[in-house]
Amino acid sequence: MIVETVPIGVNETNCYLVAEARGGQGVVIDPGADAEVILERCSALGLSIAKILITHAHWDHIAAVGGVKEKTSAEICCHRKDLPLYNALVEQLLYMGFEGDSAPPVDHFVRDGDEITVGNLRFTVLHTPGHSPGSVSYLTGNSLFCGDVLFEGGGVGRTDLPGGSMSQLRDSITNRIFSLPPETAVYPGHGPATTVGREKSSGIYLF
Ligand SMILES: [Zn+2]
Ligand SMILES: [Zn+2]
Repeated sequence: MIVETVPIGVNETNCYLVAEARGGQGVVIDPGADAEVILERCSALGLSIAKILITHAHWDHIAAVGGVKEKTSAEICCHRKDLPLYNALVEQLLYMGFEGDSAPPVDHFVRDGDEITVGNLRFTVLHTPGHSPGSVSYLTGNSLFCGDVLFEGGGVGRTDLPGGSMSQLRDSITNRIFSLPPETAVYPGHGPATTVGREKSSGIYLF
């Protein structure tokens, strides 16, 4: 499996390209800006993009969904509880002082426990709310793409934005993510990758 990290936009959001191998089918996780840059990386790796997996619908994770969809016709997957945020992309951008288009309609609403198959890759959906109501993490093999639920070095997602909940976030981290095997690689929405074991043993998740 290949995992290509493409940091994009003013927040350096990690857009991930995940595929079984170069030249194969793959997914784009969180196209948050710069569709051209993402698409260039895809074609450099020879990937045909079948799905756009959204961890959550904050502007810096979805602003380039339209651009990627237009060129790939990939299926857009998102949790229904983040649909209000998704539909408010233009307002989210304006609030940050940017102009942009709305995102095209979601094609498939994911739910906890869903299996998403792309070529020989299979992603399991974990509903991990708290940073936003519809935050999900995608697990494939022993790699987890968790959006802004947690970050390397003991950081956790902010919960002061609309729909945020510290108690849900705590539950998502301690009962869902930390119950995965310690060797599970964790790819967060910003910053470097880590592992479940490293974060769990850091002992700074005191909430
Ligand atoms: Zn976020
Ligand atoms: Zn983010």
